[in-house]
Amino acid sequence: MKLNQHYQELQESYLFSDIAKKVADYQQKHPTADLIRLGIGDVTRPLVPNVVEAFEKAVKEQGTPEGFHGYGPEQGYDFLRKAVQDYYASFEVELPLEDIFISDGAKSDVGNILDLFAKDNRVLIPNPVYPVYLDTNLMDGREIVYLNANLENGFLPMPEQGEKADIIYLCSPNNPTGAVYTKKQLAQWVEYARKQDAVILFDAAYEAFVREAGLPRSIFEIEGAKECAIEFCSLSKTAGFTGTRCGYTVVPEELVREGVSLRKMWLRRQTTKFNGVSYPVQRAAAAVFTPEGMEQCRENLRVYQENAQCMAATLEELGIWFTGGKNSPYIWMKCPEGMTSWEFFDFLLEKAGIVGTPGSGFGSNGEGFFRLTAFNTKEKTQQAMERLKALLRKD
Ligand code: PLP
Repeated sequence: MKLNQHYQELQESYLFSDIAKKVADYQQKHPTADLIRLGIGDVTRPLVPNVVEAFEKAVKEQGTPEGFHGYGPEQGYDFLRKAVQDYYASFEVELPLEDIFISDGAKSDVGNILDLFAKDNRVLIPNPVYPVYLDTNLMDGREIVYLNANLENGFLPMPEQGEKADIIYLCSPNNPTGAVYTKKQLAQWVEYARKQDAVILFDAAYEAFVREAGLPRSIFEIEGAKECAIEFCSLSKTAGFTGTRCGYTVVPEELVREGVSLRKMWLRRQTTKFNGVSYPVQRAAAAVFTPEGMEQCRENLRVYQENAQCMAATLEELGIWFTGGKNSPYIWMKCPEGMTSWEFFDFLLEKAGIVGTPGSGFGSNGEGFFRLTAFNTKEKTQQAMERLKALLRKD
């Protein structure tokens, strides 16, 4: 019996436990302090009524002989795949139904997709990054090359000609930086990937936060992307499904490597290792895409977007450099006065009772930066920004 020794190469992540420890210490010392949490990466608003209604109806169906559903298709029910297909069509991306695979969320599929690739591929991963991309590749022992995201490139790294890559991770709008690629920039990535015969794994979990016209929500808005990309999306942030679990992955028919269809491989993988998302959850997910569902979800998103706007306006007023906020629930700010990420964390907690996330926890290039999230209430976010202004205003 031999274990997968690559697990020993994973670094234990102490980020959120260290934050929790510091917050607990603070609360013990200041039992009456009114803490404001702007480090939350989870949504806080409940499922919308249209979704709850569809969810309840489907649960009741499961309790009747005529409405009962047993094992469903591994790749998802057509009623939901069709809803996703229409959603893509609304931003002019045409997809055949067979390209769309329903999942229990983006995290699982981002990890599971690696079943399709050999272990000796070279993987390009941004730094800072959503840690799942890195850890899932470390578990398989793949060679990793870091893509430097930094102040100079506005945390939107571009391909370096001459750098060899087989698998490329891109996330836009980005977690943790909130930065969003333009179509022109994504077109450069598509061109680079095609030249290298590489595959782009595109994480669009935050696409619903894109507000500015002309910014891409899907890599498939770029010509030629279907020949070199797989896209992961999620209802977690779009519709508050973090605890309900549903997402979708698009593997285009056109994506072929070594003469083999990746869509066919993914179907084979899913039908072997996955038994689909539960029927009531898929009914609830389909309700998100109805006109009423969309409008109700948009109202929730609007709250987060207004929070992000409020934070962005505050940082602009204070003259602090940041990315994100406009098309993303995340704000990635430069720590003032040359503080490190953890120094600013302590400073903000002690002096203003605000909890955020140190940027260094997402990779070495995050040192000196700090992530704020828009998932608290409007009132708490506004209150936090008033405290920030009082703390950091120069005059
Ligand atoms: N991708 C990114 C970039 C994320 O930030 C997250 C969650 O925070 C996920 C994927 C996970 O999404 P899901 O809840 O669908 O698994």
